Amino acid sequence: STGIVDSSYPVIELSEVDFGYTAASVVKDISLQIDSGEYAAVVGPNGSGKSTLMKLMLGLLRPDKGVTKLFGEPSHQFDDGSRIGYVAQHASASKDMPITVREVVKMGRFPHVGFGRLSDEDWQIVDRALDTVGMTAFANRRVTQLSGGQRQRAFIARALASEADLLVLDEPTVGVDIESVESFYDLLDSLNEDGITILLIEHDLSAVTEHADRVICLNREIYFDGPTSEFVESDALARAFGTAANFLGDL
Ligand code: ADP
Repeated sequence: STGIVDSSYPVIELSEVDFGYTAASVVKDISLQIDSGEYAAVVGPNGSGKSTLMKLMLGLLRPDKGVTKLFGEPSHQFDDGSRIGYVAQHASASKDMPITVREVVKMGRFPHVGFGRLSDEDWQIVDRALDTVGMTAFANRRVTQLSGGQRQRAFIARALASEADLLVLDEPTVGVDIESVESFYDLLDSLNEDGITILLIEHDLSAVTEHADRVICLNREIYFDGPTSEFVESDALARAFGTAANFLGDL
């Protein structure tokens, strides 16, 4: 890969998407487009369909109605997983992963080298990724011995090693110690400045309003989709939560 992002297609595109696990729909009439280089956050109450929407975006679920595309291709046909880095909640990370940080990041090269040996250049990419996320000093540490924030950085480094141009993060700072949260979001900011598209699912509304450029507020349907500055001024959050009372505390 040249590392040059093909921005001729939206990174993610959903048109009139409906989906339900059963006959009842969970998300309804979702149309949105995320372009290369954006930093977008999805917010909404528990059970509002945020994770479902993310799975639809990534082609892990097929819509009942409508179309989902990744990089211009129907999502379910898209097969270049190396372009997408997924960072799950720390809480769901496996506890018995007896591998080192460097090995985790090395795995990011596998889509490029198959299961063959890494070249010197591949290792340089691995080391650069470790450096970018500030984890060089922890390269030989087992991921089980890391703090939550360090572990999330290791998984971001893996995405960088695979040369992902889209980072999808599902509440990435749950379980991360409070002192590390701000520097974690600073890292996302700098990756976004380097051109990586960021899609963040987030409970922490202050992180969203401080860092994301665009907010998609969801409760089964889209209540708001636009610039963060307009979201802050709007009543979308209160409407999406069905109450203006104490909604910040719910996030
Ligand atoms: P959020 O991420 O906003 O908390 P989810 O997308 O996880 O919301 O869930 C939306 C709704 O879909 C909830 O009512 C949830 O119970 C339901 N749901 C989520 N996953 C499944 C599943 N695998 N099977 C059936 N129902 C599900």
